[in-house]
Amino acid sequence: MLIARRGQNIMRERAVLQRILVTGGAGFLGSHLCEALLRSGHHVICLDDFSTGLRRNIEHLADTEHFSFIEHDIVTPIDFDVDQIFNLACPASPPHYQANPIHTTKTSVLGSLNLLELARRHNARILQASTSEVYGDPNVHPQVESYWGNVNPFGPRACYDEGKRCAETLFFDYHQSHGVAVKIARIFNTYGPRMRPDDGRVVSNFIVQALKGDDITIYGDGSQTRSFCFVDDLIDGFLCLMASPASFTGPVNLGNPCEFTIGELAEQVIELTGSTSRIVHRPLPIDDPRQRRPDISMAMRKLDWQPRVTLFEGLGKTIRHFDRLLADIDPILTEVA
Ligand code: NAD
Ligand code: UDP
Repeated sequence: MLIARRGQNIMRERAVLQRILVTGGAGFLGSHLCEALLRSGHHVICLDDFSTGLRRNIEHLADTEHFSFIEHDIVTPIDFDVDQIFNLACPASPPHYQANPIHTTKTSVLGSLNLLELARRHNARILQASTSEVYGDPNVHPQVESYWGNVNPFGPRACYDEGKRCAETLFFDYHQSHGVAVKIARIFNTYGPRMRPDDGRVVSNFIVQALKGDDITIYGDGSQTRSFCFVDDLIDGFLCLMASPASFTGPVNLGNPCEFTIGELAEQVIELTGSTSRIVHRPLPIDDPRQRRPDISMAMRKLDWQPRVTLFEGLGKTIRHFDRLLADIDPILTEVA
């Protein structure tokens, strides 16, 4: 069931038809965003290079009026008329962004530069999907936007963390130097339907393992924490941020402030799936952040936004999605291969 949300309502009320570019639109978050923008009556141009996104995420939109698709890598410049840009193009899962780290950095740095130029030429408003990873392994808890972070510039996560940090710098400088209307969202761990079964992030890994009866792989002792936001809440935050006054650029944290250990997450997944899977422990990846929880006071104050979906509820919806997906796995595996 669709819940009417604040962001969706604002976009609908201001429904002068906008040409909105969503880069990374065939990915997990991007495909949900394309749907939400189409529901608000806008023209959506979805752009993706299918490096981690899937054609099947957007197949159902292909015949929708006001939807078009461009296959393109944002590392190469592009030009067309546009009113708003949501820049989501970037691999987000550690195994995916570490697979080709140089291209990950190029995507954040050169890609952002190309899209900021596009925004400048067409006087478009542009939103950057930044990340809680800009705080690295944080020494301040919960994380507030004024915290500068604790990032290793030389480790396996650096291509993602430093790329996203540099992108924020470029956004700030295009705003200062060229007056481009920018918005920066620092997204905390978000999960939900349309994550790939082989995505590698913790929620999809645990659910797929539990449903298949495989061992559930906790990295380290499971005492590290994350705060998990359901996708619908995050998309609503994106829409509220894009519609906020031009004077508000962010960066602003978007995430769910309820914090869980990874061990607690595994227990919840086992309970909700009724799985007989065993928990096994694997080595903790290098530079894995110990704890993470957003301080969302700025988002509540400036955007009148806060998440509504509990982890229990969101996991239930995500488990139902994966249950259906695994029953119909062949087409996915064909595309993933
Ligand atoms: P995803 O991997 O499902 O989506 C990323 C999309 O970008 C994919 O469709 C991929 O094919 C596309 N892409 C990657 N590089 C590209 C390039 N050079 N040119 C064109 N397209 C490219 O991941 P997601 O979880 O949907 O993340 C979307 C965005 O949100 C990313 O920028 C990510 O860094 C950010 N983010 C996500 C989370 C989260 O928890 N989901 C947290 C923090 C930040
Ligand atoms: N993790 C885990 N088992 C897995 C995948 C991840 O224990 O199968 C851990 C990972 O080490 C990290 C946390 O879960 O501590 C979140 O990992 P994810 O890759 O989802 O996101 P990120 O580390 O980028 O926040």
